[in-house]
Amino acid sequence: MSDLAQVAVTTLKGVGPALAEKLARVGLETLQDVLFHLPLRYQDRTRVTPIGALRPGGDAVVEGVVSGADIVLGRRRSLLVRLQDATGTLSLRFFHFSQAQKDALKRGTSLRCYGEVRPGATGLEIYHPEYRALGADEPSGQVEQNLTPIYPSTEGLTQQRLRALSEQALRALDGRSLPDWLPAELARRHRLAPLADAIRYLHRPPPDADLEELAEGRHWAQHRLAFEELLTHQLSLQRLRESVRAQQAPPLAKATRLPAQFLKGLGFAPTGAQQRVAAEIAWDLQQPAPMLRLVQGDVGAGKTVVAALAALQAIEAGYQVALMAPTEILAEQHFLNFGKWLAPLGIEVAWLAGKLKGKARAGALERIAAGAPMVVGTHALFQDEVRFRNLALAIIDEQHRFGVQQRLALRQKGVDGRLCPHQLIMTATPIPRTLAMSAYADLDTSILDELPPGRTPVTTLVIADSRRPEVIERVRAACAEGRQAYWVCTLIEESEELTCQAAQSTFEELSLALGELRVGLIHGRMKPAEKAAVMEQFKAAELQLLVATTVIEVGVDVPNASLMIIENPERLGLSQLHQLRGRVGRGSAVSHCVLLYHAPLSWMGRERLAIMRETGDGFVIAEKDLELRGPGEMLGTRQTGLLQFKVADLMRDADLLPAAREAAQQLLERWPQHVSPLLERWLRHGQQYGQV
Ligand code: ADP
Ligand code: MG
Repeated sequence: MSDLAQVAVTTLKGVGPALAEKLARVGLETLQDVLFHLPLRYQDRTRVTPIGALRPGGDAVVEGVVSGADIVLGRRRSLLVRLQDATGTLSLRFFHFSQAQKDALKRGTSLRCYGEVRPGATGLEIYHPEYRALGADEPSGQVEQNLTPIYPSTEGLTQQRLRALSEQALRALDGRSLPDWLPAELARRHRLAPLADAIRYLHRPPPDADLEELAEGRHWAQHRLAFEELLTHQLSLQRLRESVRAQQAPPLAKATRLPAQFLKGLGFAPTGAQQRVAAEIAWDLQQPAPMLRLVQGDVGAGKTVVAALAALQAIEAGYQVALMAPTEILAEQHFLNFGKWLAPLGIEVAWLAGKLKGKARAGALERIAAGAPMVVGTHALFQDEVRFRNLALAIIDEQHRFGVQQRLALRQKGVDGRLCPHQLIMTATPIPRTLAMSAYADLDTSILDELPPGRTPVTTLVIADSRRPEVIERVRAACAEGRQAYWVCTLIEESEELTCQAAQSTFEELSLALGELRVGLIHGRMKPAEKAAVMEQFKAAELQLLVATTVIEVGVDVPNASLMIIENPERLGLSQLHQLRGRVGRGSAVSHCVLLYHAPLSWMGRERLAIMRETGDGFVIAEKDLELRGPGEMLGTRQTGLLQFKVADLMRDADLLPAAREAAQQLLERWPQHVSPLLERWLRHGQQYGQV
């Protein structure tokens, strides 16, 4: 039997050009594809249930003789067929039916049908059962030998059709026609069944299969395939990593002058963690291969200082640095920070964002091309028209919103289009281990696991907005004691405009209610200069209460602020709430965060806010966020295809990952000839994870 990866579906009985085209649309082109198109769930049609033993609620196979078929005119016209066996009577009800169908269901016809049994007007009924007339010579009681697979389907592809195709493909399946690329030694070590057995089992499970286990994806046959898929994913990331590392990067000599000057002006000493991570980066940058390093650190851990130290090494060596952030506001904060830090060192900081137009834009492009040492901006920095003179280091903040592709696109921006820039990726969202291992397996990781001194834990309260007046009094009391507070309005229906309006009216309401306080307002629609002015006033304690949209999520640092109210926190992701809350607890006073939710909360909503109340640990929060929302939403990579698995599920199969990773490593070392066939099998239709 030839390799099923090479055998086209058109060789199967009943597959003509029209059907082949439909199949191609769902990625089924070869027999191997058909075999990897696995059922979503199963039905048990292996037993006939006597009508007298039927119970409402479950699915059942029933056999009987038609004792009557009538059109009844109730609230909806329907065809009611009475079916009888030795133990009782059942009704089959059709709301859609043809005359031919009615004629065929005449008295005395033997039927086998399948469907969900429910209580109805006439006793137990099945609506629109699947049914088949039994021939006179057909023995009754002969039902399916196996559980019936239900395949993922699209329009024009019926279950019968998909079953017929998998039936034929299974007949062609054996260990040689579908090579098992997991070497026996690895399969033994990880207790994995042969591939063909797993595939066969999943398409046609025996009657005694554990349906619950299958539904939950915990079955050995599913594990076998999930393991192979995860392993293949790791292989592709390894490939990606190798292809990046095989490139040349400008080695950057260890800097001395600029970092010393910078630290002297900083006003505080770096933490131990900052020093350690900065040293790891400094070493990477001296190498002639590109650095690919992810710095993870909780909110307020001080990643920006680490980034600045890296930047200074490149600048001192005479090269350019680009710092990219996913939003204009975040980029702007960095621009202000770096401007403040680097100006005393005589280093120019250039700015480029999508909103920059006309002359200002042309000017920025010119300065970048001429070699402005430090460039800060949004992903506008990726655009083709942006030419760097000699870019040696790209710093990307909040990596999880950038895709692998974008990371790779950076290469073209390197020196002479030949030397790849070093890449430093910073994420404030701590990435759970499981995700780090799969989404970021191509990166080295450094962790800033120490907060700067002087932070105090924040107490979080979850309060319904029916108690808003009490909360307002709380703000009054805190400010009377000389503290400052934030009042945060969250995003409304994805609309910045509506959100800013809401902040405006909250500002008016609170100004009125708290007449004796100096209240300020800041939101995304204000001009940068206006925002900066308001922030300055708040920092200088000229304002006591700051009403804000989530623009204050980033870069705001006012140690005297010890109270934060977040309205409608249920609208935000946990990580974002964590970021926001990180704006308080920066001084020595005990700080509070009030999550002012709008009742009623969904179950999920309650769970999420409870997590915020219970922990201040960004890693725990990220793990929970992942559990509740799934990796796609959390990383925002749904579109990139980065984490689209066919069988595996990152949450469910997290425990398989370490072993799959280890197996991938061994496969690369000892069975390198198996790598390409595996990549081909699992990734041919999907995006090659970060194709280069
Ligand atoms: P994040 O890791 O969330 O990006 P930032 O880099 O914005 O954190 O730092 C948060 C705040 O802590 C900033 O105001 C920064 O100046 C301050 N900071 C950073 N490192 C230290 C340190 N070692 N000691 C004291 N303050 C620090
Ligand atoms: Mg930051």
